Amino acid sequence: MDLEFKLKGTFRTSADPADAKETIEQLFEEAGETILTKGAPAGQGAQIRSWNLKENGVEVEIVSGRYVRAHDAIIRLRKPLAGKLGKEFHIGVRGVDVDHFTISVPAEQSVGNLKIPHVSSMEFKDGAITLELDVGESELENRVPDRILTLMEDKINEKLYGGKTEHWNLLWESEKKEPKFTQDPTPEMVKQGWIKRGASRGQWIHGPQSTKLFRTFEKIVYDELLEPLGYKEMIFPKLIPWEVWQKSGHAKGVYPEIYYVCPPKTRDPKFWEEVSDHYKVTHEVPVELIKSKIGDPIGGMCYAQCPPFWMFLQGETIPTTEFPITVFDRSGTSHRYESGGIHGMERVDEFHRIEIVWLGPKDDVLDCARELHERYMHIFNDILDLEWRKAWVTPWFMAQEGLTGISEQGETGTTDYEASLPYRGEDGEWLEFQNVSVNGTKYPSGFNVKCQSGEELWSGCSGVGLERWTSAFLAQKGLDPENWPDEFIKRFGELPEGIRFL
Ligand code: ATP
Ligand code: ZN
Ligand code: MG
Repeated sequence: MDLEFKLKGTFRTSADPADAKETIEQLFEEAGETILTKGAPAGQGAQIRSWNLKENGVEVEIVSGRYVRAHDAIIRLRKPLAGKLGKEFHIGVRGVDVDHFTISVPAEQSVGNLKIPHVSSMEFKDGAITLELDVGESELENRVPDRILTLMEDKINEKLYGGKTEHWNLLWESEKKEPKFTQDPTPEMVKQGWIKRGASRGQWIHGPQSTKLFRTFEKIVYDELLEPLGYKEMIFPKLIPWEVWQKSGHAKGVYPEIYYVCPPKTRDPKFWEEVSDHYKVTHEVPVELIKSKIGDPIGGMCYAQCPPFWMFLQGETIPTTEFPITVFDRSGTSHRYESGGIHGMERVDEFHRIEIVWLGPKDDVLDCARELHERYMHIFNDILDLEWRKAWVTPWFMAQEGLTGISEQGETGTTDYEASLPYRGEDGEWLEFQNVSVNGTKYPSGFNVKCQSGEELWSGCSGVGLERWTSAFLAQKGLDPENWPDEFIKRFGELPEGIRFL
């Protein structure tokens, strides 16, 4: 069974088109050789299966495959039909009614019963999922059927490849290192008073000791990588409205992990008086009452760090001499509602990251990625002395967008950096502690950023997760600075005293 679009629709006319029968017949016959096949491989255009005249319309039944899809076909027919009927018969074409529209997508199994806008029913039978669409002319024009098809194909692939699992290819691996420590560092840090749980889910308060570790990692990244490579610091917003995620593509799939943000309906103290009074009397925060006084979510807290930067460039044309543009942000936290295992420091709901972003013509962007990889290699081998490896994985955003599947190492995509965690044992899972992604044209095109020369713009980003670096470093080296590499101690100095309790 091949992909098939089947559309039955009616061109609404201002008068009975009976007299125009021959003209219409001729037009439809010609169309079969011209506008309904234009752009499609031979024999694969759309076909008018049948048509007939009604009192106030011309009914057509169109069938197609992937090329010149039935909904495009009917839109393509509208203008020439209106031209003929208008000129020769003074009959106007008022619009297109969709009487019946189905898409059949080949599939080996059902994807379940899903609630998709403009899909009124869905059935899996004989190796295909058949969707019945509830659409009108404007949806046809706005390519809604195409997006429904893409969504279905993604879901079918997701099923086939097992959801969000990443495709993983080893690129480079350090030699094995004798661990100086074999415990889980998080409980050890707690025991030694370096960190305490914050009041919120998956949140830690860092004492002077781990804070100094974070700051030293930042300094290393700055001195050994950002500064020599000419990256400039910027400050990216940390409250992200929907508009940004619509343009970055995150709006397609980030919902389960967002910390949502709702503004008050008004800042009028009178409007909120009831809430404060309730609290003052009961010492309970009246959450239900608050819910009634806040607006709809306007977006969420920073998730991926680089998307809001793109609003700075949105709609701009950048002089060729500016490239590559190389910037970074370390101005605030990222927040994700993580699943299950948030026991440790490595997977938290609130984390700290340096986000490095670069853009330019393709070659510049690939060069930047190469330089970053070299500098990281130097840091992890010569300063932190880690046991680590690099792997090529299915681009994160592709997984988010449901485009999982096969991705061989190509020019765009993500390289994950992973460290072994000795406490998890020889065969234990390694920890992704950062990534380098080449995102191709995704961001420049999503935010409409152009290059003066007209050349295609690419971009990349790299997220240095400070909790992850700390987890990897302490898991391998332990909490005793005696066991830390000299090159690191040189930059770290002395371990500060923490705060003592009775
Ligand atoms: P994971 O598969 O471990 O959840 P991810 O693929 O979601 O990671 P990315 O979206 O690629 O991670 O984020 C980039 C970097 O941000 C990660 O390499 C990591 O350093 C950091 N990071 C992401 N999520 C967290 C978290 N929950 N806690 C701490 N750091 C995180
Ligand atoms: Zn990014
Ligand atoms: Mg994650």
